Amino acid sequence: MTLKVSCPQCKSEVIWQASSEFRPFCSKRCQLIDLGEWAEENHKISQNIQPDAMLTEEMLDAMEDEFLMNNKFFVEPE
Ligand SMILES: [Zn+2]
Repeated sequence: MTLKVSCPQCKSEVIWQASSEFRPFCSKRCQLIDLGEWAEENHKISQNIQPDAMLTEEMLDAMEDEFLMNNKFFVEPE
């Protein structure tokens, strides 16, 4: 039985075997493109994260209130 997968990058068929060294990618090129996109995405995310020092106690409380409201953990007794 031969297991085949689709290259996540270009969707071409890759046979899952030891010689398919870049599986699940079909080639080194596709693997690098994918890793490059991942790294770029990661970079964007890290730029949006504010350092912890920026959060005051008040902001944390407000965030917690909002979180609890959105999730309705506490239901008012009838
Ligand atoms: Zn590919």
